[in-house]
Amino acid sequence: MAFVLTWIFGPDKLRATLPIWVPFLIALGLELHFFASGLRPPRPRRSDRGPQDADLDLYGYGGEAEELLLVRDGAQEIWVPYAGETAEEVEELIANAREVSEEEEDEAAAEPATKKGRSARALSRLLGGLILIGALAAIFWLVDSRTGWNGLSGDARAKATARFSREASAVAGKPVTIRCDESGNYVGAVQHADGVARIGGTLAYLTPERCHALYRLAFEDKVDSNKTGLAIAVLAHEAWHLRGVADEGTTECYALQSGVELGERLGLARGTAEQLMRAQRVESTLRGRQNPAYALPAECHDGGRLDLEPASGWFP
Ligand SMILES: [Zn+2]
Repeated sequence: MAFVLTWIFGPDKLRATLPIWVPFLIALGLELHFFASGLRPPRPRRSDRGPQDADLDLYGYGGEAEELLLVRDGAQEIWVPYAGETAEEVEELIANAREVSEEEEDEAAAEPATKKGRSARALSRLLGGLILIGALAAIFWLVDSRTGWNGLSGDARAKATARFSREASAVAGKPVTIRCDESGNYVGAVQHADGVARIGGTLAYLTPERCHALYRLAFEDKVDSNKTGLAIAVLAHEAWHLRGVADEGTTECYALQSGVELGERLGLARGTAEQLMRAQRVESTLRGRQNPAYALPAECHDGGRLDLEPASGWFP
């Protein structure tokens, strides 16, 4: 449960690396586990009728040399401590012990002892758990639909994608269209990608998360540091694919360079844009170590073969 809440309200990194169904699946698995263990019979009670050690301690007779007197009271057997009391005192002790014994009996009756009772209890606990999980799923859905890219009006989204398309066209050198993949059919957690484009094509998709970061920058003037940097780099990356570059490392090297001007056009100061693309270069280098197909080529440096502006003296 805590895990699901952490996922919803916790760090973005967790949400980015873990699909939402994972925490829900874990919660569901735990519920079923508790349900199954609830069905199992409890450990058998001690069958000998002598007072248990815990009871002796509880009632203050533990370890003492006092004798215990077994008194039959109808069908019940009651133990009372006896240390030479008079008959009257013994009567009183029996009365006290009887009360305690009756209370215990009531408690025992309150616990469903039968198998049927146990499964009913386990079932109601399972239902309670499922309702809780359902409520969390509803909260997630609500939060998801009211915030981020999906929380924007259709009009705002249309304006934004038109702007993204214009900026991508400038990088691609031809008119191209950028769409945000709300359906999750093209890009997303399954493909482990932030965007997708056909090489040399005219249409690219970005994940709603990247689209929202770009929207915040272009329309709200908000910078979420690495998130903004990543979104700019992804938009530039897909634009370079549309321009016709297929090799992933080369595409990324170009994207980091184009990202500076792209970031500026979207509202960043030059220095901030450069800083964000430098940070993205570090991220790209790390990604390249995990997946060599995405590694930045050796020629990706200031004055190198992949430097788009060898004269500029600056490189991400
Ligand atoms: Zn790519």
